[in-house]
Amino acid sequence: MGKLAINGGEKVRKTLFPAYEVIGKEEERAAIEVIRSGVLSKYLGCWEDDFYGGPQVRALEEEWAAYFGVKHAVAVNSATSALYCAAGAIGLNPGDEVIVSPYTMSASATAPLIYNAIPVFADIEKDFFCLNPDSIEERITEKTRAIIIVNIFGQPYDVDKVNKIARKHNLFIIEDNAQGPGAAYGKQLAGTLGDIGVFSLNYHKHIHCGEGGIAVTNNDELAERLRLIRNHAEAVVGDKGYKNLNNMIGFNLRMTEIEASIAREQLKKLENLVNVRIENVNYLRDKFEQLPCVIVPPIRSNCKHVFYMFPLIYNEAKTGISRERFVEAVRAELMPTKLREGEGVRVEYGYVKPLYLQPIYQERIAYGKGGYPLKESSVSYEKGTCPVCERMHFESLITHELMKPGMSKNDLDDVFFAFEKVYDNIDELK
Ligand SMILES: *Cc1c(COP(=O)(O)O)cnc(C)c1O
Repeated sequence: MGKLAINGGEKVRKTLFPAYEVIGKEEERAAIEVIRSGVLSKYLGCWEDDFYGGPQVRALEEEWAAYFGVKHAVAVNSATSALYCAAGAIGLNPGDEVIVSPYTMSASATAPLIYNAIPVFADIEKDFFCLNPDSIEERITEKTRAIIIVNIFGQPYDVDKVNKIARKHNLFIIEDNAQGPGAAYGKQLAGTLGDIGVFSLNYHKHIHCGEGGIAVTNNDELAERLRLIRNHAEAVVGDKGYKNLNNMIGFNLRMTEIEASIAREQLKKLENLVNVRIENVNYLRDKFEQLPCVIVPPIRSNCKHVFYMFPLIYNEAKTGISRERFVEAVRAELMPTKLREGEGVRVEYGYVKPLYLQPIYQERIAYGKGGYPLKESSVSYEKGTCPVCERMHFESLITHELMKPGMSKNDLDDVFFAFEKVYDNIDELK
């Protein structure tokens, strides 16, 4: 029997890690008040005052816009919905191309497809994992209309370069900031760095209200289109006298009053939750930087990174064993997190499979049997399309979430000790 838990030794950690619990009395009180009011949602899908929703939704939008220093905030029922609204609002046409990231939650790439536009995958940066400006520029054609850029893991994209490219080629930027609320590029908060920014309020994000999303913009026309698409545009544009009918088949993507009331309380907690997360990451970073088998990626200069996840680069040259085997051994030393026991130990090799390798891109079928619109496009979804992303995912990247607020110094120590113990006893894995 070896020392390592994977070989039957004792685990570093024997109890569950604490849950990430952000819902408290304040949210409870807010939700109960809404329930007692009897008005759980106030929207009307026609051109009436209630077209814009009830008091909680409107208050949330006002507070969100003020907090992020942006003119308009539009609440919806998920970040996915916000991305759909954004793709419609910018006026995508069938066959238009939109440059997207392969290393993100799937909706940031599929949003253009809702309007029969074509996702074009550009490669990611090897240090920061956001879209690489050079790769974006290589993928631009006369059909390109927009870039959906993701502040992946909570770090802002390269705003200087990417915004310059967008201006030069007259492209919209939709900024998927689901993982970066509170992140900043210089003094400017993430989410407000492009034409439309998108936030998520789902259960797994920094702050949540169950399910929810918010789109923000400084552009009055885009804001109006976001609101129309959110709420049955087709039934509203006539009476409203709104003339630009491109993409005005609306949806029902409305947030309820209960969720909005919870989200308002959550917004008040954001700053503190972000600060604790950064403290925890800094505490772990100092330790991981001493461990030869991983490299802690740098933070983009002049940026505030809010660490939805903590990425590490595996250094196989120092261990002589595969990343998969190393991570399995680390997992064996640790325990799952409370409330998420079914997911096992929250340390992963890679993040998500490069999105173009998903079946809809590989088979090139989005709508109907004929494969519309992907079969009509010559855009590549072949393996090798984004080599840096593939290398990160299949060989180098380790991601974990064991640094969320609620983790004590002892909990964080256990996470590090697990990595250190596996490295110190690496010969047991050979
Ligand atoms: C979570 C997430 C989304 C989707 O958020 P939902 O609110 O669940 O729709 C989109 N993009 C990124 C980068 C995400 O992490």
